[in-house]
Amino acid sequence: MSGFGVFSTREGGPRIGWRVGEHVLDLSAAGLGDVFGASVLNPFFERGRQEWEGAVSRILDAVERGAEPRFPLDEVQLHLPFDVADYVDFYSSLEHATNVGRLLRPDQEPLLPNWRWLPIGYHGRAGTVVVSGTDVVRPCGQTVPLGGGEPLFGPTRKLDVELELGFVTGVGSERRKPLRTEDFADHVFGIVLLNDWSARDIQAWEYQPLGPFLGKSFQTSIAAWVTPLVLLEDARTTAPAQVPSPLPHLADGRDWGLDIELEIQLNGEVVSTGNARTLYWTMPQQLAHQTSNGASVRAGDLAGTGAISGAAPGSEGSLLELTRNGAEPFRLRDGSERSFLEDGDRVVLTARTGTLSLGEVTGRVVPAAAA
Ligand code: CA
Repeated sequence: MSGFGVFSTREGGPRIGWRVGEHVLDLSAAGLGDVFGASVLNPFFERGRQEWEGAVSRILDAVERGAEPRFPLDEVQLHLPFDVADYVDFYSSLEHATNVGRLLRPDQEPLLPNWRWLPIGYHGRAGTVVVSGTDVVRPCGQTVPLGGGEPLFGPTRKLDVELELGFVTGVGSERRKPLRTEDFADHVFGIVLLNDWSARDIQAWEYQPLGPFLGKSFQTSIAAWVTPLVLLEDARTTAPAQVPSPLPHLADGRDWGLDIELEIQLNGEVVSTGNARTLYWTMPQQLAHQTSNGASVRAGDLAGTGAISGAAPGSEGSLLELTRNGAEPFRLRDGSERSFLEDGDRVVLTARTGTLSLGEVTGRVVPAAAA
Protein backbone atom coordinates (compact mmCIF):
# COMPACT_ATOMS: atom_id res chain seq x y z
CA MET A 1 0.00 0.00 0.00
CA SER A 2 1.43 3.39 -0.91
CA GLY A 3 0.33 6.85 -1.86
CA PHE A 4 0.12 10.40 -0.57
CA GLY A 5 -2.12 11.32 2.34
CA VAL A 6 -2.54 13.98 5.01
CA PHE A 7 -2.23 13.04 8.68
CA SER A 8 -1.83 14.59 12.09
CA THR A 9 -0.47 13.24 15.36
CA ARG A 10 -1.19 14.27 18.96
CA GLU A 11 1.91 16.46 18.79
CA GLY A 12 1.52 18.04 15.38
CA GLY A 13 -1.06 19.30 12.92
CA PRO A 14 -1.86 18.13 9.42
CA ARG A 15 1.04 17.45 7.06
CA ILE A 16 1.67 15.15 4.11
CA GLY A 17 2.74 11.55 4.50
CA TRP A 18 3.38 8.48 2.40
CA ARG A 19 1.74 5.23 3.34
CA VAL A 20 4.11 2.33 3.93
CA GLY A 21 2.05 -0.73 4.88
CA GLU A 22 0.43 0.04 8.23
CA HIS A 23 2.64 3.10 8.82
CA VAL A 24 2.85 6.62 7.47
CA LEU A 25 6.19 8.24 6.63
CA ASP A 26 6.31 11.95 7.56
CA LEU A 27 7.67 13.35 4.29
CA SER A 28 8.74 16.84 5.38
CA ALA A 29 10.34 15.59 8.62
CA ALA A 30 12.17 12.95 6.57
CA GLY A 31 13.73 15.75 4.52
CA LEU A 32 11.88 14.90 1.32
CA GLY A 33 10.63 18.44 0.64
CA ASP A 34 9.17 21.44 2.45
CA VAL A 35 6.09 21.28 0.22
CA PHE A 36 5.08 18.23 2.25
CA GLY A 37 4.74 20.35 5.36
CA ALA A 38 1.49 21.72 3.87
CA SER A 39 -1.87 20.59 5.24
CA VAL A 40 -3.17 19.56 1.81
CA LEU A 41 -1.65 18.23 -1.42
CA ASN A 42 -2.74 21.22 -3.53
CA PRO A 43 0.58 23.18 -3.36
CA PHE A 44 2.38 20.01 -4.48
CA PHE A 45 -0.12 19.59 -7.34
CA GLU A 46 1.01 22.95 -8.74
CA ARG A 47 4.58 21.74 -9.18
CA GLY A 48 3.67 19.65 -12.22
CA ARG A 49 4.34 16.21 -13.59
CA GLN A 50 8.14 16.26 -13.60
CA GLU A 51 8.31 17.12 -9.90
CA TRP A 52 5.56 14.63 -9.01
CA GLU A 53 7.46 11.81 -10.66
CA GLY A 54 10.81 12.93 -9.22
CA ALA A 55 9.34 13.07 -5.73
CA VAL A 56 7.77 9.61 -5.98
CA SER A 57 11.10 8.20 -7.08
CA ARG A 58 12.96 9.86 -4.17
CA ILE A 59 10.29 8.71 -1.70
CA LEU A 60 10.48 5.10 -2.88
CA ASP A 61 14.29 5.22 -2.48
CA ALA A 62 13.94 6.72 1.00
CA VAL A 63 11.38 4.06 2.03
CA GLU A 64 13.79 1.40 0.79
CA ARG A 65 16.56 2.91 2.94
CA GLY A 66 14.27 2.85 5.99
CA ALA A 67 13.67 6.62 6.23
CA GLU A 68 12.03 7.97 9.40
CA PRO A 69 9.94 9.24 11.12
CA ARG A 70 7.12 6.77 10.60
CA PHE A 71 3.96 6.59 12.67
CA PRO A 72 1.63 3.60 13.08
CA LEU A 73 -1.66 4.29 11.27
CA ASP A 74 -3.68 3.59 14.42
CA GLU A 75 -1.90 6.46 16.17
CA VAL A 76 -2.61 9.14 13.58
CA GLN A 77 -5.66 10.96 12.33
CA LEU A 78 -6.19 10.98 8.56
CA HIS A 79 -7.65 13.99 6.77
CA LEU A 80 -9.08 14.75 3.35
CA PRO A 81 -5.84 14.73 1.33
CA PHE A 82 -6.60 17.73 -0.92
CA ASP A 83 -8.98 20.65 -1.18
CA VAL A 84 -11.59 19.43 -3.64
CA ALA A 85 -12.20 22.10 -6.30
CA ASP A 86 -14.99 20.86 -8.57
CA TYR A 87 -16.48 17.39 -8.39
CA VAL A 88 -18.07 15.63 -11.33
CA ASP A 89 -19.28 12.07 -11.57
CA PHE A 90 -19.44 10.05 -14.78
CA TYR A 91 -21.47 7.00 -15.73
CA SER A 92 -18.82 5.16 -17.72
CA SER A 93 -19.48 1.48 -17.04
CA LEU A 94 -21.55 -0.09 -19.84
CA GLU A 95 -22.74 -2.88 -17.53
CA HIS A 96 -23.72 -0.46 -14.73
CA ALA A 97 -25.57 1.91 -17.09
CA THR A 98 -27.39 -1.04 -18.70
CA ASN A 99 -28.35 -2.59 -15.34
CA VAL A 100 -29.60 0.73 -13.94
CA GLY A 101 -31.49 1.55 -17.15
CA ARG A 102 -33.30 -1.82 -16.95
CA LEU A 103 -34.17 -1.33 -13.27
CA LEU A 104 -35.31 2.30 -13.39
CA ARG A 105 -36.88 2.37 -16.87
CA PRO A 106 -38.03 -1.24 -17.45
CA ASP A 107 -40.26 -0.32 -20.38
CA GLN A 108 -37.49 1.37 -22.43
CA GLU A 109 -34.15 0.60 -24.07
CA PRO A 110 -31.72 0.48 -21.10
CA LEU A 111 -29.09 2.67 -22.78
CA LEU A 112 -30.20 6.08 -24.04
CA PRO A 113 -29.00 6.95 -27.59
CA ASN A 114 -26.23 9.34 -26.40
CA TRP A 115 -24.54 6.85 -24.06
CA ARG A 116 -22.13 5.30 -26.58
CA TRP A 117 -21.22 8.70 -28.07
CA LEU A 118 -20.04 10.53 -24.95
CA PRO A 119 -19.18 9.85 -21.31
CA ILE A 120 -22.40 10.87 -19.52
CA GLY A 121 -21.77 12.82 -16.31
CA TYR A 122 -23.19 15.37 -13.86
CA HIS A 123 -21.74 18.01 -11.56
CA GLY A 124 -21.75 16.93 -7.91
CA ARG A 125 -21.13 18.76 -4.65
CA ALA A 126 -17.41 19.27 -3.90
CA GLY A 127 -18.13 20.48 -0.36
CA THR A 128 -19.51 17.13 0.79
CA VAL A 129 -16.56 15.01 -0.33
CA VAL A 130 -15.16 13.48 2.88
CA VAL A 131 -12.28 11.22 3.86
CA SER A 132 -12.63 7.48 4.35
CA GLY A 133 -13.76 6.56 7.85
CA THR A 134 -16.39 9.32 8.05
CA ASP A 135 -19.82 8.01 9.11
CA VAL A 136 -22.67 8.47 6.65
CA VAL A 137 -25.90 9.77 8.17
CA ARG A 138 -29.00 8.34 6.50
CA PRO A 139 -30.29 11.32 4.50
CA CYS A 140 -33.86 12.57 4.36
CA GLY A 141 -35.64 13.53 1.18
CA GLN A 142 -38.78 13.22 -0.91
CA THR A 143 -39.77 9.71 -1.89
CA VAL A 144 -42.90 8.21 -3.40
CA PRO A 145 -44.58 5.52 -1.23
CA LEU A 146 -44.33 1.90 -2.45
CA GLY A 147 -47.88 1.80 -3.81
CA GLY A 148 -47.53 5.20 -5.52
CA GLY A 149 -49.30 8.46 -4.70
CA GLU A 150 -47.96 11.78 -3.43
CA PRO A 151 -44.37 12.02 -2.17
CA LEU A 152 -43.47 12.09 1.52
CA PHE A 153 -40.43 13.63 3.22
CA GLY A 154 -38.38 11.31 5.44
CA PRO A 155 -35.29 9.13 5.77
CA THR A 156 -34.30 7.18 2.65
CA ARG A 157 -35.24 3.49 2.68
CA LYS A 158 -32.81 2.71 -0.13
CA LEU A 159 -29.37 3.84 1.00
CA ASP A 160 -26.74 2.38 -1.33
CA VAL A 161 -23.07 2.46 -2.27
CA GLU A 162 -21.37 2.99 -5.62
CA LEU A 163 -17.88 1.58 -6.00
CA GLU A 164 -15.93 3.95 -8.24
CA LEU A 165 -12.46 5.19 -9.02
CA GLY A 166 -11.84 8.93 -9.13
CA PHE A 167 -9.06 10.92 -10.79
CA VAL A 168 -7.61 14.08 -9.31
CA THR A 169 -6.46 16.98 -11.48
CA GLY A 170 -3.08 18.35 -10.40
CA VAL A 171 -2.43 20.95 -13.09
CA GLY A 172 -5.46 22.86 -14.32
CA SER A 173 -6.21 23.91 -17.88
CA GLU A 174 -7.08 27.23 -19.50
CA ARG A 175 -10.57 28.22 -20.49
CA ARG A 176 -11.30 27.76 -24.19
CA LYS A 177 -8.34 25.40 -24.54
CA PRO A 178 -9.75 21.88 -24.55
CA LEU A 179 -7.44 19.11 -23.36
CA ARG A 180 -6.75 16.14 -25.60
CA THR A 181 -6.79 12.58 -24.33
CA GLU A 182 -2.96 12.51 -24.63
CA ASP A 183 -2.70 15.45 -22.18
CA PHE A 184 -4.05 13.23 -19.39
CA ALA A 185 -0.80 12.36 -17.56
CA ASP A 186 0.45 15.98 -17.71
CA HIS A 187 -2.63 17.22 -15.87
CA VAL A 188 -3.84 14.38 -13.69
CA PHE A 189 -1.94 13.71 -10.47
CA GLY A 190 -3.42 10.40 -9.40
CA ILE A 191 -6.45 8.32 -8.53
CA VAL A 192 -8.48 7.47 -5.45
CA LEU A 193 -11.04 4.83 -4.61
CA LEU A 194 -14.45 6.50 -4.17
CA ASN A 195 -17.84 5.63 -2.66
CA ASP A 196 -20.66 7.64 -4.20
CA TRP A 197 -23.27 7.01 -1.46
CA SER A 198 -26.69 7.09 -3.11
CA ALA A 199 -30.28 7.25 -1.88
CA ARG A 200 -32.11 5.33 -4.61
CA ASP A 201 -35.68 6.27 -3.68
CA ILE A 202 -34.80 9.99 -3.54
CA GLN A 203 -32.86 9.61 -6.79
CA ALA A 204 -35.68 7.77 -8.59
CA TRP A 205 -38.18 10.58 -7.83
CA GLU A 206 -35.93 13.55 -8.57
CA TYR A 207 -33.57 12.51 -11.38
CA GLN A 208 -35.72 13.20 -14.44
CA PRO A 209 -35.26 15.40 -16.39
CA LEU A 210 -32.01 16.98 -15.07
CA GLY A 211 -30.16 14.10 -13.42
CA PRO A 212 -29.09 13.20 -9.85
CA PHE A 213 -29.25 15.93 -7.21
CA LEU A 214 -30.02 15.38 -3.49
CA GLY A 215 -30.00 11.61 -3.87
CA LYS A 216 -26.22 11.79 -4.09
CA SER A 217 -24.99 15.16 -2.82
CA PHE A 218 -25.27 14.38 0.91
CA GLN A 219 -21.85 12.65 1.02
CA THR A 220 -19.12 11.21 -1.20
CA SER A 221 -16.29 9.33 0.53
CA ILE A 222 -12.79 9.03 -0.93
CA ALA A 223 -9.70 7.15 0.19
CA ALA A 224 -7.29 8.92 2.52
CA TRP A 225 -4.49 8.00 0.09
CA VAL A 226 -4.00 9.31 -3.45
CA THR A 227 -2.15 6.87 -5.71
CA PRO A 228 0.03 8.82 -8.17
CA LEU A 229 -0.38 7.89 -11.84
CA VAL A 230 3.26 6.89 -12.12
CA LEU A 231 2.60 3.89 -9.83
CA LEU A 232 -0.14 2.62 -12.16
CA GLU A 233 2.05 1.82 -15.19
CA ASP A 234 1.81 -1.95 -14.61
CA ALA A 235 -1.98 -1.74 -14.22
CA ARG A 236 -2.53 -0.13 -17.63
CA THR A 237 -4.27 -2.19 -20.27
CA THR A 238 -6.32 -1.68 -23.42
CA ALA A 239 -9.89 -0.68 -22.66
CA PRO A 240 -12.82 -2.62 -24.23
CA ALA A 241 -13.59 -1.94 -27.91
CA GLN A 242 -16.01 0.92 -28.56
CA VAL A 243 -18.86 0.60 -31.06
CA PRO A 244 -19.51 2.97 -32.73
CA SER A 245 -16.05 4.56 -32.87
CA PRO A 246 -16.07 7.76 -30.83
CA LEU A 247 -15.80 11.14 -32.56
CA PRO A 248 -12.19 12.29 -33.19
CA HIS A 249 -11.82 14.38 -29.99
CA LEU A 250 -12.65 11.29 -27.89
CA ALA A 251 -11.03 8.70 -30.12
CA ASP A 252 -7.85 7.94 -28.17
CA GLY A 253 -7.00 7.27 -24.53
CA ARG A 254 -7.80 3.58 -24.94
CA ASP A 255 -4.43 2.64 -23.41
CA TRP A 256 -5.68 3.83 -20.02
CA GLY A 257 -7.80 0.83 -19.20
CA LEU A 258 -6.88 -0.07 -15.62
CA ASP A 259 -6.54 -3.66 -14.46
CA ILE A 260 -7.53 -2.99 -10.87
CA GLU A 261 -9.44 -5.56 -8.81
CA LEU A 262 -12.31 -4.12 -6.82
CA GLU A 263 -14.25 -5.39 -3.84
CA ILE A 264 -17.25 -4.34 -1.74
CA GLN A 265 -17.37 -5.65 1.84
CA LEU A 266 -20.48 -5.31 3.98
CA ASN A 267 -20.04 -5.97 7.70
CA GLY A 268 -16.80 -7.84 6.98
CA GLU A 269 -18.28 -10.02 4.23
CA VAL A 270 -17.35 -9.69 0.54
CA VAL A 271 -20.56 -9.07 -1.43
CA SER A 272 -19.11 -8.05 -4.81
CA THR A 273 -15.84 -8.40 -6.72
CA GLY A 274 -15.17 -6.61 -10.01
CA ASN A 275 -12.41 -5.07 -12.09
CA ALA A 276 -11.95 -1.54 -13.42
CA ARG A 277 -10.69 -2.87 -16.77
CA THR A 278 -14.32 -3.28 -17.86
CA LEU A 279 -14.87 0.52 -17.96
CA TYR A 280 -16.15 1.58 -21.40
CA TRP A 281 -15.02 5.23 -21.24
CA THR A 282 -11.48 5.77 -19.92
CA MET A 283 -10.29 8.58 -17.66
CA PRO A 284 -8.44 10.43 -20.50
CA GLN A 285 -11.68 10.38 -22.51
CA GLN A 286 -13.56 11.72 -19.46
CA LEU A 287 -11.02 14.54 -19.06
CA ALA A 288 -11.10 15.44 -22.76
CA HIS A 289 -14.89 15.42 -22.76
CA GLN A 290 -15.07 17.71 -19.69
CA THR A 291 -13.03 20.40 -21.45
CA SER A 292 -14.28 19.86 -25.03
CA ASN A 293 -16.69 22.82 -24.77
CA GLY A 294 -13.95 25.20 -23.58
CA ALA A 295 -14.57 24.70 -19.85
CA SER A 296 -11.40 24.58 -17.78
CA VAL A 297 -10.38 22.18 -15.03
CA ARG A 298 -8.63 23.24 -11.82
CA ALA A 299 -6.10 21.74 -9.44
CA GLY A 300 -8.05 19.62 -6.96
CA ASP A 301 -10.84 18.74 -9.39
CA LEU A 302 -12.19 15.28 -8.67
CA ALA A 303 -13.90 13.14 -11.33
CA GLY A 304 -15.58 9.84 -10.46
CA THR A 305 -15.85 7.12 -13.11
CA GLY A 306 -19.35 6.10 -12.09
CA ALA A 307 -20.08 2.77 -10.43
CA ILE A 308 -18.02 -0.01 -11.98
CA SER A 309 -19.93 -3.20 -12.72
CA GLY A 310 -18.86 -6.32 -14.60
CA ALA A 311 -20.98 -8.61 -16.76
CA ALA A 312 -20.92 -11.55 -14.32
CA PRO A 313 -23.37 -11.79 -11.40
CA GLY A 314 -21.56 -10.79 -8.20
CA SER A 315 -19.42 -8.14 -9.92
CA GLU A 316 -21.93 -5.27 -9.65
CA GLY A 317 -20.74 -1.99 -8.16
CA SER A 318 -23.92 -1.20 -6.20
CA LEU A 319 -26.58 -2.92 -4.06
CA LEU A 320 -29.24 -1.58 -6.45
CA GLU A 321 -27.84 -3.93 -9.08
CA LEU A 322 -26.84 -6.79 -6.74
CA THR A 323 -30.41 -7.04 -5.35
CA ARG A 324 -32.29 -5.94 -8.51
CA ASN A 325 -33.61 -2.85 -6.72
CA GLY A 326 -34.49 -4.87 -3.64
CA ALA A 327 -36.42 -7.62 -5.47
CA GLU A 328 -33.69 -10.21 -4.79
CA PRO A 329 -32.22 -9.56 -1.33
CA PHE A 330 -29.10 -11.47 -0.32
CA ARG A 331 -28.36 -13.12 3.01
CA LEU A 332 -25.36 -12.26 5.14
CA ARG A 333 -23.51 -14.85 7.25
CA ASP A 334 -25.31 -13.68 10.39
CA GLY A 335 -28.60 -14.72 8.76
CA SER A 336 -29.87 -11.20 8.13
CA GLU A 337 -31.08 -10.12 4.69
CA ARG A 338 -30.06 -7.00 2.81
CA SER A 339 -31.75 -5.14 -0.02
CA PHE A 340 -30.12 -1.82 0.84
CA LEU A 341 -27.99 -0.57 3.76
CA GLU A 342 -29.29 -0.80 7.33
CA ASP A 343 -28.33 1.52 10.18
CA GLY A 344 -25.09 0.33 11.77
CA ASP A 345 -23.84 -1.35 8.57
CA ARG A 346 -20.17 -0.91 7.83
CA VAL A 347 -19.02 -0.72 4.20
CA VAL A 348 -15.42 -1.20 3.09
CA LEU A 349 -14.32 -0.73 -0.54
CA THR A 350 -10.91 -2.07 -1.55
CA ALA A 351 -8.87 -1.99 -4.77
CA ARG A 352 -5.60 -3.66 -5.72
CA THR A 353 -3.43 -4.33 -8.74
CA GLY A 354 -0.52 -6.74 -8.49
CA THR A 355 1.25 -5.93 -5.24
CA LEU A 356 -0.17 -2.38 -5.09
CA SER A 357 -3.25 -1.64 -3.01
CA LEU A 358 -5.13 1.63 -3.29
CA GLY A 359 -6.29 3.27 -0.08
CA GLU A 360 -9.54 1.69 1.16
CA VAL A 361 -12.81 3.59 1.64
CA THR A 362 -14.76 2.81 4.79
CA GLY A 363 -17.95 4.19 6.27
CA ARG A 364 -20.63 3.26 8.83
CA VAL A 365 -24.32 4.05 8.46
CA VAL A 366 -25.73 6.24 11.24
CA PRO A 367 -29.52 6.59 11.72
CA ALA A 368 -31.18 9.78 10.49
CA ALA A 369 -32.49 10.44 14.01
CA ALA A 370 -28.95 10.57 15.44
CA ALA A 371 -27.99 13.54 13.25
CA1 CA B 1 -21.94 7.59 -9.20
